[in-house]
Amino acid sequence: MHRENFDFALTGAGFHCKIITESFPNDPIGVLFLKQKTEAVLLSANYHTHTPRCHHASGEEIDYIETARNAGMHTLGFSDHAPMLFDDGYISDFRMLPEQTEEYAVTLDKLKRQYAGEIEILIGYEMEYYPRYFARSLASICRYPVDYLILGQHFLENEYPVERPKNRSDGYSGATTDEEWKLGMYVDRVVSGMQTGAFSCVAHPDLMYFTGDDDIYRRHIVRLCECARDMHIPLEINLLGLGGGRAYPCDRFWRIAAEVGCSAVIGCDAHYPEMLTDPAVIERGFRYAEQFGIPLVHELTLRDPRSALKQ
Ligand SMILES: [Zn+2]
Ligand SMILES: [Zn+2]
Repeated sequence: MHRENFDFALTGAGFHCKIITESFPNDPIGVLFLKQKTEAVLLSANYHTHTPRCHHASGEEIDYIETARNAGMHTLGFSDHAPMLFDDGYISDFRMLPEQTEEYAVTLDKLKRQYAGEIEILIGYEMEYYPRYFARSLASICRYPVDYLILGQHFLENEYPVERPKNRSDGYSGATTDEEWKLGMYVDRVVSGMQTGAFSCVAHPDLMYFTGDDDIYRRHIVRLCECARDMHIPLEINLLGLGGGRAYPCDRFWRIAAEVGCSAVIGCDAHYPEMLTDPAVIERGFRYAEQFGIPLVHELTLRDPRSALKQ
């Protein structure tokens, strides 16, 4: 059997396809079989990766890294749900505890050195901008190695104590709503977060499922998009949402983002290792950007979270 493997990069597309061509010259009936198989459509970098510390992800760091490296990715950024220093000993059930920060950062720092030259490992967090807790939580994170933050605004206000004890959906940014004040507050928080200068991209900026009027939606989303454009902060096309049939990515959001002139980054939002290399979903992500004419950023320009410390 004669077998040729060759890789080629699709110029500017940020992903590559591996084509395996197999031919069988010694086939008994003398027919040359030529089999072409598209093996994978891959991201060259992913900055949205979780670990089991958030209680809803599975797989060890090494499993994510090996999966990414074997698929030919050159950068894997971990961005688990950030620890927050809440009041009164309140414990959030979807993020690591503050006392896990050191172990998280030290573990990733070791892996970063172990895999140097093979794949770039980055230490990050997915973090909300909660006015009451942001500054002190950021200061706590910055005591240990950290490369970047992504802004994922999961709650409208402070998560605790305003919304959470009553009903999780009350203040959850992803809840369905037609109330303008909620949309306005979501956008206010995301804009304030971007303006801290701590964040390198906005994760699922279209998390809020707003079912109200187009004009109202546009009025607020334009504010978010203009801020992202002016600060050169890419907005994420979230593959967890796209592959999972969630309400995001939201078409009307991305129409506005394209019109305003934003750029986008594709983020796996991986909660298990295989999510880093699902070719069908990744391909849909690229097509989604193309559909709206949104320019893709394949490598994030990382902003040092420490630059936002003394605000
Ligand atoms: Zn998560
Ligand atoms: Zn995430």
